[in-house]
Amino acid sequence: MPSITVTKDLGEFQCAHWLSKHEGACANIHGHSYKVGISLSADVSFEFWSSGANILVDFCKFDLIRSRVKEMMDHRLLINRNVLEKRSLEDVITIMEGDPSAENIAFAILIDFYKFCWPDIWEDISSSSFKDSMSNFDVTVHVQETSSSGASVTVPVAQCKQIQDLPSRW
Ligand SMILES: [Zn+2]
Repeated sequence: MPSITVTKDLGEFQCAHWLSKHEGACANIHGHSYKVGISLSADVSFEFWSSGANILVDFCKFDLIRSRVKEMMDHRLLINRNVLEKRSLEDVITIMEGDPSAENIAFAILIDFYKFCWPDIWEDISSSSFKDSMSNFDVTVHVQETSSSGASVTVPVAQCKQIQDLPSRW
C-alpha cells in the first residue's frame, strides 16, 4: 500500500536551554539555532488516487502550530519547571553590568584580559631582547554573535591602567 508523507517547515529559532540532569557543559544555560519541522504520514489505498482527494492535508493547516512554536521558542529560555524548585537561578546564570550585547560582552572580556592576563604578558614582552622593535600595541576582542554579525572592541595598551582600574563587568 502506498503511503504519503506531508511535511512542513516550522521555522528556525534562536533559543536558550539547560539540561538539568546532564553532566557537563550542557548543564548550564546555553543557546542553539533550532530548525523545527513536522510531518504527517498515512497509508492510502489505491482508491485514494481515484477518489478525487488529491491531497492528504492542506499545508496551511500547519500554520497555527508554526506560529505557536515561534511564540514559545524564538528568543526564549526553555527550562524544566521542576528545576527551579531545586536549583537557584544564580547557579546557572551570569549577571553582568548592562545588556549582554556583543559589544558589552567584548568589553567585559577585554577588562578581564587587562586585569588578569596582561600583566604577565607585558612582563614577558618587556623583558624580551627585541622589546624596542615593537610599539603601539592594541588589544581587540571580537564576539561573533551569529554567522553574519559580531562586534569588536579595541583598547590600546597605552590605556591599560585606565581599563585595569574598572570593575569587572560580571
Ligand atoms: Zn543544548
